Amino acid sequence: MWKKLLILFLLISQSKAYILLKNIRYSINPEKERYVLDFSFKLKKKYISVSKNKNKICIYTKNVKASYRFPKVIYFHNSKIVKKLKLFKKINPKVCFYIKTSNYILDYFIYKNKLVLDFYKKDIERLKTKQRQKFAESLRKQHKFIVVLDPGHGGFDSGAVWPVKSKRPYLKEKDIVLKLAKLVKKHLEKHPNVKVILTRKKDVYVSLYERSKIATDYGADIFVSLHVDSLPKSSKVSGVTIYISSPRYKKYSQKMVRVFSRESVPVKAVFENLAPSITYSFSDDLAYYLKKHIKKVYKRKVTIKRHPKNIVVIRTPGRPSVLIEAGFITNKYDRNFYINKRKMNKLAKAIADGIYAYLKAHYNKKTCQTKKFVYHVKKGDTLWEISRKFKVSINKIKKWNNLKSYTLYQGQKLFIYKRICN
Ligand SMILES: [Zn+2]
Repeated sequence: MWKKLLILFLLISQSKAYILLKNIRYSINPEKERYVLDFSFKLKKKYISVSKNKNKICIYTKNVKASYRFPKVIYFHNSKIVKKLKLFKKINPKVCFYIKTSNYILDYFIYKNKLVLDFYKKDIERLKTKQRQKFAESLRKQHKFIVVLDPGHGGFDSGAVWPVKSKRPYLKEKDIVLKLAKLVKKHLEKHPNVKVILTRKKDVYVSLYERSKIATDYGADIFVSLHVDSLPKSSKVSGVTIYISSPRYKKYSQKMVRVFSRESVPVKAVFENLAPSITYSFSDDLAYYLKKHIKKVYKRKVTIKRHPKNIVVIRTPGRPSVLIEAGFITNKYDRNFYINKRKMNKLAKAIADGIYAYLKAHYNKKTCQTKKFVYHVKKGDTLWEISRKFKVSINKIKKWNNLKSYTLYQGQKLFIYKRICN
């Protein structure tokens, strides 16, 4: 009995002492290469450090032991970025990636028991940026607002789940927020002067780097991150929380950090990353409109979490940015919003209405509408004259009215659609 206990104790103490570096997985795509180091336990930040120099990226570990299965050297023949990986030492191993180009951007993060290294191709990223900027420019010419919606989590990162700890949860935060984001987009884009960009459209994991890059590339007017909360110990707790980011985020918002510690690291980082370019008071106002509209459909508590110090000198006017924790997956009342389609649609519409109310209140930009005109053809009218009069192309008039030729007859009704901005 004692022997058994002793063995058990040794096993436990050993497994506690060392986290096992189990294996490496990777996927190599033309746009991005991902290398994942799998460990046996949840990793702490303090156990890992990454150093980068010209032709090497090395990961130093603490409290880690390399599994005997972990390869000592791997060559990545089809990689355009990494030549090989080498393992040094079994105890507190050092793992080095040997790099063969400078055409990359590295983004790495810890997710539970994984260390993920994403290598992006610099030239492709630049091209993407250019394309996004160009698209954004064309939208602005049409007097459109650009709203970036960020459904949290995705892919291997499910976020909060219900039932908690179930192997097959039927509700996952990543799915809820994606559905919600798509609905918000649908409602917002009913306004002809709004274009919504989603940071992800599918069940994929989008890194911090990509999420914040999308918002900055498009020069978004608004950034809204969508999440769902979880508090397994008190299922009675419900409520929508709207978090405001601010340049003072790091200094004052201990509370927020605590909340976000339930979240994956990237979410926290997205916020930190965007914060410097965001004007706090604008975010505050956006949160106010969101709260006002959400309260109409959500009958529990809706809170805005702000910093103790409310006055911030606006130095760089940027985009307002908020993170909505749209209820608790652990609460029955809130779950109804995720299960019941009609309810979710109401919540989405409320979020869309809140965003639009903010846009309307804040910008003196023109709001545009497409109006339908009926023109009665007079004697001697030509398509060319009518097109000049309404400032629309002849081809469009022909298309709208199903005209096969250029001939018109007196008294003919022509439909003309025009965007009127005021
Ligand atoms: Zn989340």
